[in-house]
Amino acid sequence: MLSESAAEPIDAHEHWMREALRAAREAESRQEVPIGACIVIGNRIVAVAGNRTRTDCDPTAHAEIVALREAAQAAGNYRLGDATMYATIEPCAMCAGALIQARIPLLVYGARDEKAGAVDTHFQICNSDKLNHRIEVISGVLESECRDLMQQFFKDRRQRSEVSDQESGTLAETPASDV
Ligand code: ZN
Repeated sequence: MLSESAAEPIDAHEHWMREALRAAREAESRQEVPIGACIVIGNRIVAVAGNRTRTDCDPTAHAEIVALREAAQAAGNYRLGDATMYATIEPCAMCAGALIQARIPLLVYGARDEKAGAVDTHFQICNSDKLNHRIEVISGVLESECRDLMQQFFKDRRQRSEVSDQESGTLAETPASDV
């Protein structure tokens, strides 16, 4: 039997991560950095989003933020105390902070972001005694698919010499020698 707790079987996490991956690929089709997120409440998906920063000309329109807004509207509550966030890539400081604000109890992410990740890589925002909420974290779900999508995107962009330094900085795990 499925539940939304961390005891949930890994294949359930993989199932929802595939929805986030689908959103990441959809973002990529809009020339966005391919990161996707979805939010599940009670074994039901209530929000799914890919990055929209370029699409919306909005620096805050990361997949996680867009999904949080959609989920809060769907739930009719700005607190999402029974929701699980699935994100293809380790959230940045802004998104991890937003997860705290939303009181999300569980975050599941795919691959680390060695540059901007603010959950495990830097800052440990989801597990800070300076903040008034802590988030349980499960990482590494469909990790290689999530990471490969990002690496291929930036590899293609660099080959076209279109990528800015700032954007390439969000791809953590692609050494320059890979290009
Ligand atoms: Zn973010």
